[in-house]
Amino acid sequence: MDCPVCGSDDVEILNSKQKSSKKKIMEEYLIRCESCGHVFKDMFTAKKPEPYRLIISEQDKSHKTTIDLSPSDELKVGDVLLSDLGQVEVTSIEVNDKRVKKSKIEDITTIWASSVEIPARIGFSVDLHGDVDSYKIDLDRDFEIAPGDVVKIEKHIVKVHVIKTQERKLTSGFAKAGVIKRVYSKPVKFNNFDYDLTKDIVKKTNRE
Ligand SMILES: [Zn+2]
Repeated sequence: MDCPVCGSDDVEILNSKQKSSKKKIMEEYLIRCESCGHVFKDMFTAKKPEPYRLIISEQDKSHKTTIDLSPSDELKVGDVLLSDLGQVEVTSIEVNDKRVKKSKIEDITTIWASSVEIPARIGFSVDLHGDVDSYKIDLDRDFEIAPGDVVKIEKHIVKVHVIKTQERKLTSGFAKAGVIKRVYSKPVKFNNFDYDLTKDIVKKTNRE
């Protein structure tokens, strides 16, 4: 998209129009050169998206699906795609029974990817003066928990005392679920709470 007059690549797209035929998409751009002010048109054609085989691994399962991609684009390991199961990161590309790091999409047989939207699984302990109710809960990786939060979990209303992350123990500040290992809490006699984690429980155990 360099300026045909002065050769600068400092250009601004003023307008774009899309036309499509059966197999191709044509995009026409109206462009202004920021260096010399020349206004010109440029045209891009791309093949229309087609479905490609996509295998997504998520924790210990894998899902087979397809994803629509433009055959004329290139794909490489590490690229993030938006699949029907959320965002996934490409981990391997199969072209004619061989695994490659990158490829033109039209040559690809199968795309292997892992989900980047796997929830974080954290432990949540409720100290019941000797007994402990221990939960496994799944949360969005960005969900923030802070010491002092008042939380409802099943019949308990508890206050968070300590958060153990991969690196340390927190008694102040906050941590995102993505780095939390376990949250320690104690019941409080409140009726109100900041949030309810009951629906996020995957498993409960009780030990004395
Ligand atoms: Zn120019």
